[in-house]
Amino acid sequence: PVRTRFAPSPTGFLHLGSLRTALYNYLLAKSTAGQFLLRLEDTDQNRLVEGAEENIYDTLKWLSVGIDEGPTVSGPFAPYRQSERSEIYRKYSDELLQKGLAYRCFCSKERLDGLRDSARLLKPPTTVSYDRHCLEHISLEESNQLSKEGKSFTIRFKSPDSYPEFTDLLHGTINLQPQVNPTDRRYEDPVLLKSDGLPTYHFANVIDDHLMKITHVIRGEEWVASTPKHIALYNAFGWEKPKFVHIPLLTTVSGKKLSKRSGDIDIMSLKKKGYLPEALVNFSVLFGWNPKRELGEKTSEVHTLDDLTKTWLLSGLTKGNAKVDWKKLDFFNKHYLSEKLKNSSSDFFRNCVTESHQSLTKTLKLDNLDVTQVEKVLKMIYPSLTTINDFDTEQYHYFFVKPAYDKSELLSKLKINEDILKVIGQELVTHLDSLTHSSFNTTIGDILTDIPTLKKKAVFQTLRYALSGPQSGINLPIILELLGPEEVKERVTAFNK
Ligand code: GLU
Repeated sequence: PVRTRFAPSPTGFLHLGSLRTALYNYLLAKSTAGQFLLRLEDTDQNRLVEGAEENIYDTLKWLSVGIDEGPTVSGPFAPYRQSERSEIYRKYSDELLQKGLAYRCFCSKERLDGLRDSARLLKPPTTVSYDRHCLEHISLEESNQLSKEGKSFTIRFKSPDSYPEFTDLLHGTINLQPQVNPTDRRYEDPVLLKSDGLPTYHFANVIDDHLMKITHVIRGEEWVASTPKHIALYNAFGWEKPKFVHIPLLTTVSGKKLSKRSGDIDIMSLKKKGYLPEALVNFSVLFGWNPKRELGEKTSEVHTLDDLTKTWLLSGLTKGNAKVDWKKLDFFNKHYLSEKLKNSSSDFFRNCVTESHQSLTKTLKLDNLDVTQVEKVLKMIYPSLTTINDFDTEQYHYFFVKPAYDKSELLSKLKINEDILKVIGQELVTHLDSLTHSSFNTTIGDILTDIPTLKKKAVFQTLRYALSGPQSGINLPIILELLGPEEVKERVTAFNK
């Protein structure tokens, strides 16, 4: 069976890029009746971030991305936290030591720094710097003895003279070799176990993917340079390697690397901003993946997680097009929010009413805000909301408190003078009783018959301004209905004072 994994390091909160990686691995497993694992890669003790591990679990749970095996649910290959697997890594590094495929390196930091400096000066240049001193000058017996004496060491992999090429399911054959200088030969010989006894990413990743029977590794392109080392390790152990897929890095719309400045924030912060899990999943799944379709056939961009577990295909991955267009997230959120608020007897709708009532009460400093008014308004205006948080913004506050007026603003917008505005105001007051949702059109008609020199637009906009102040966006008849005749009268009268 297909087995995939999401292997985050708890060095930060879960962002869009990791979400996409998690999703593709999840979907490959779910669409093929396979298993999806979560493995926590927490061996770099210096980079751990407080709360990051919890954040990863909470985010996936909130998004309904369920895991079959992992630190929170256990499974047949537990533990799934690398920091709890030290014994296992030691056993396998011993195996490589015995076979002569790895060696202890006792070089001091100063010596290694010196090697790096001298490597930088070589022409032609080299991308690797170690000179294999400890492989060439220390026998296994000596090495065992030094280790017994308690001398500090790392374990290095004896990397092959040339790295094997490999197939990436998206990119085809990839051949990556370090650049070396032929007269002053240096070697990559990556460290497998650090001096604190903990494994490096490369080593733990390979051991665990093998032991956990991972069949497919889908990960970001930033890892492609590591893959030759990983494959060399699989070969050293004589293990079958998983299939690899490296997916394009996320960029901004203009093609720059996605960063904090371009709006990349962690998923739970987006939740706080009012974004829905459905929208975030839909948004992320399209960064480098397209549903397969027949030529010329148009398919919708809307995909729920549930549908995707049936329709997602590895062959829909694309090499480019991982542009993050935040407007799209708004589009999807508006869509899903609208779908969910449609049903006003749903728990979702009820919760939105309760929470909005609380938040509006606080923002507007009201102690008697009528919850049924909140409900009534939400029922009518929800299709114009992008996130539920929009509801408690200036744009909709006039439904709950009287608006402030600035007549000069209205005059310049309508390009009329004060006298005309006065005439319109008086006409509205004269027709106060018929300013209702149902007789709105005839009333405007009547006013225009009374005074034919008035422009329809001016009458219309003045009424709107009297009711909602500078905010627009909701149809005037709907505003009339939601405010009700009493409130309409009060506002038109107040405006005309
Ligand atoms: N721990 C790595 C990360 O943080 C995993 C990379 C991989 O999937 O191999 O992304």
